[in-house]
Amino acid sequence: MTAASPHPGSGARGRRRVVVVGAGPAGLTVGAVLRAAGVDCLVLETESREFIERRPRAGVLEEWAVRGLERRGLTRNLPARAQRHTECEFRFAGERHRLRYTELTGQHHYVYPQQFLVTDLVREYADVRGGAIRFGVRDVRLNDLESDRPSVSYLCPESGERRVVECEFVAGCDGAHGVTRTALPAGRAGLSRYDYGVGWLALLAEAPPSCDCVVFGMHPRGFAGHMQRGPDVTRYYLQCPPGDDPADWPHDRVWTELRERLGARGAPPLREGRLIEKRVLGMHGYVVTSMVSGRLCLAGDAAHLTAPIAAKGMNLALHDAFLLGDALVARLTEGDERGLAGYSAACLARVWDCQEFSQWLSEVYHGTASGDPYRAGLTQARLRRLFASRTAATAFAEQYLGTAATG
Ligand code: FAD
Repeated sequence: MTAASPHPGSGARGRRRVVVVGAGPAGLTVGAVLRAAGVDCLVLETESREFIERRPRAGVLEEWAVRGLERRGLTRNLPARAQRHTECEFRFAGERHRLRYTELTGQHHYVYPQQFLVTDLVREYADVRGGAIRFGVRDVRLNDLESDRPSVSYLCPESGERRVVECEFVAGCDGAHGVTRTALPAGRAGLSRYDYGVGWLALLAEAPPSCDCVVFGMHPRGFAGHMQRGPDVTRYYLQCPPGDDPADWPHDRVWTELRERLGARGAPPLREGRLIEKRVLGMHGYVVTSMVSGRLCLAGDAAHLTAPIAAKGMNLALHDAFLLGDALVARLTEGDERGLAGYSAACLARVWDCQEFSQWLSEVYHGTASGDPYRAGLTQARLRRLFASRTAATAFAEQYLGTAATG
């Protein structure tokens, strides 16, 4: 990355101890942890504050993640606004089957839309803890990451001028489409990928939930999912071919398909509403083999992507952010290197566990509609075991809630 002129056309220069690239759950949490310890940092974000505070994505937080936020003083609004969930429902072969995970493990899921969490975190980082943040930046570039004086530059949205910020560490928290992962030296930072070969039509409906818990529908026409997001908004998923065009899914087709795939004896009728988001997600994942290179530490989707099959992405982003925030504070305030030295391995153990669980769950969701009687048979065996064996149900619940030991 080092060139004769690392930041061409650069003007103003500044200095911070840490530059965090990306203001998602990972970046804002790292920033808030740094600020709580009095570490000077700057968060750079390409979008506006209004945009990130409204961007709907994930909605499920695992209990350990909520406790981690709590310990760091980051749950100002969460207790009043989040719903606590204790069970989920599987629908297959026309029947409903409840899995009461709190009864099995004592742990909950919290439904707290990602945009609420991001709004809380921006407020805490910038308004309460006085953290510096620049929205709307363009063309972020990283330099000299292998030296002890790396720098990050960006185009200022107001002046169009390139600003250069020297620092001691860069936290790469810019998600799946960011730039920091591409700064990892080729060869040293391996990237492994997996493609599930299916797509999900991700929908947000302006409608109250149709059931009091998350519902997974395994149907010969494809998987369908139902997830609460609030009293008036509900997320639905419909399995579809990976490259499908959302325009081919008009209102009537969506609701007909959802009714069919989520139909089961005694199930309450779906509560329909206007579709306010409709996008096709290719189900795939990737993992970088080391999340640290020189003075660059990746966190969240920048380092690993987990298809939303098991609702793990936001939780993994927070897990990384807790470890990275604490490790940077220890390094920068006490010179303690241990947290940073073990950071990548500690994150990746949980990441691989979630990748494995997603694989397992993907077969449960997609096997029935695969057209392959062997895969459909595997799905049925897994579902039967889940509801015949308390041990199997507990093992599922531990992975679903993120409490399973990862070694
Ligand atoms: P992000 O939230 O992507 O944040 C990265 C930030 O960096 C963004 O604000 C972006 O604008 C910014 N950025 C990008 N490029 C640059 C750049 N060059 N310079 C500066 N800033 C940049 N996860 C769950 O746990 N449960 C769920 O139920 C769930 N459902 C999902 C549903 C959908 C439809 C989608 C898309 C995702 C879902 N996820 C879910 C995944 C979850 O949203 C992500 O894993 C999570 O957002 C990762 O957080 P992050 O901070 O790593 O990255």
